[in-house]
Amino acid sequence: MAWRTAGVKAGLSIPSARGETYADFVTAITSTPSRGLIETELDARSGLTFWKPGDPEAVESAIWRLWQSGTRHHFCWPCLHCEKYFVPRFEQMRWPENASPAEAARSTHLACPHCGGLHQDDDKPEMNARGIYVAPGQWVGDGEVQGSPEENAVISFWASGLASPFVTWGTRVERYVRALASGDPDQLQTALNAGFGECYTPASGRDALDWQEILQRRQPYRIKDMPDGVLRLGMAVDVQKLSLYYTIRGFGSRGTSWLIDRGQLFGPTDDDDVWNALADLMLTPIGGMQIERVFIDSGFRPNKPDGGDEHKVYEFTRRYPWLVSPTKGRATMSPPYRISKIEVTPKGKQASYSINLVWLSTDFFKSLLVSRIRTPLDQPGSFIVPDDIDEDYAKQLVSEVRVVDTATGKPQWVQRSRQNHFLDCEALAMAIGYSLNVQRIPEGVLRERSDDQALAPDEPTRAVLPARDVATLAAAALPNLRARFAGLSSRLNR
Ligand SMILES: [Zn+2]
Repeated sequence: MAWRTAGVKAGLSIPSARGETYADFVTAITSTPSRGLIETELDARSGLTFWKPGDPEAVESAIWRLWQSGTRHHFCWPCLHCEKYFVPRFEQMRWPENASPAEAARSTHLACPHCGGLHQDDDKPEMNARGIYVAPGQWVGDGEVQGSPEENAVISFWASGLASPFVTWGTRVERYVRALASGDPDQLQTALNAGFGECYTPASGRDALDWQEILQRRQPYRIKDMPDGVLRLGMAVDVQKLSLYYTIRGFGSRGTSWLIDRGQLFGPTDDDDVWNALADLMLTPIGGMQIERVFIDSGFRPNKPDGGDEHKVYEFTRRYPWLVSPTKGRATMSPPYRISKIEVTPKGKQASYSINLVWLSTDFFKSLLVSRIRTPLDQPGSFIVPDDIDEDYAKQLVSEVRVVDTATGKPQWVQRSRQNHFLDCEALAMAIGYSLNVQRIPEGVLRERSDDQALAPDEPTRAVLPARDVATLAAAALPNLRARFAGLSSRLNR
């Protein structure tokens, strides 16, 4: 892959790449990419499938990040059958299933993505001779490039390793098949990077959720409605420096769950106001039901500038110990859920206090969330959203992809887009369901409704749990406080 800037040297800082500087201030860098989550997208105007720029944070390969910040010229070949141009890629290679490396080397073909027409390595010189570079914004007409690339100070080029005159397709595929057979992800990465000039995507990364899949989980009810199947209610909170994100999720038989509400409470989280707003929200019944478990993430990454203060979370949970628990995530952990008592020493104060901290396996609960989202709607345990849910929520839910680290064999959740707060909330909600054992609720259980409740929704004074009563109960610190609160909420829920 070659990468070039014309006249502009600012922003060029990649000492590890091989490069040369010319007298006319054109700097060229050539390199092969390594790891990154790279997807492709079909460009409607040109009919070409270009590489889609990945989130720079998720692309490990420095040369790929540089390349995708430029014009993104792709080297294209004409199909010798249908004459349409295409971007040659590894995915177009064909060889017999279960072939040995040697067999694969002998029988490798390239299939045109437009017509399926097969090409042999002997066709390469002609295709290279007629090959052209096309950038997004351009297209091919009469065998020539038409239009201009999108405005960019950096001109960048990518060519597939398949175009190399020095190595046959068969040899490239042979190396790939051999690496595959070795089971060594490092060898596989080398085969893809060096052989094809493509970024290596661990296999599970291709299995990522699409945000449209979230919209397919819609059922006919609205945000803040309470579907009949809901038996228990939980709330999950993600703490940012300047706001709190939350989701409220209802659980029913066999772990089926419904999104009841989601939102963001604004205010600096080292002040009390936003926490008081959270208290009001979590103590206000919805559709006559009381939230009975609240998890607040207190696991802030050390250098995260937009994270919150864990002491503020502890202070808050200490006020509502029967309802609220602080949580911290670990990448992996077995069992996936554990409660430990910790001693907290407040800043600048003497007296310390103890709280119950919930430790969670991030990988387990994010994976559980994906499984629930993939559970068919007519099956127990499915994940449901209201029909007025917004795209932003859906997009945040698919903001991370599970990949297995090739070096350590450990799963990692790689960010594809910056906004991931509702994903964190819903993974926490899965942990709430798990802790409430909702998957054990038998099928066919429905919420009891009395005539009393039938009147309640239209009458705000009756639908709101008096916060004073709760405060009094909490202050009394009775040994059976939980039971009494449960009794109170079950009366309200009736
Ligand atoms: Zn074709």
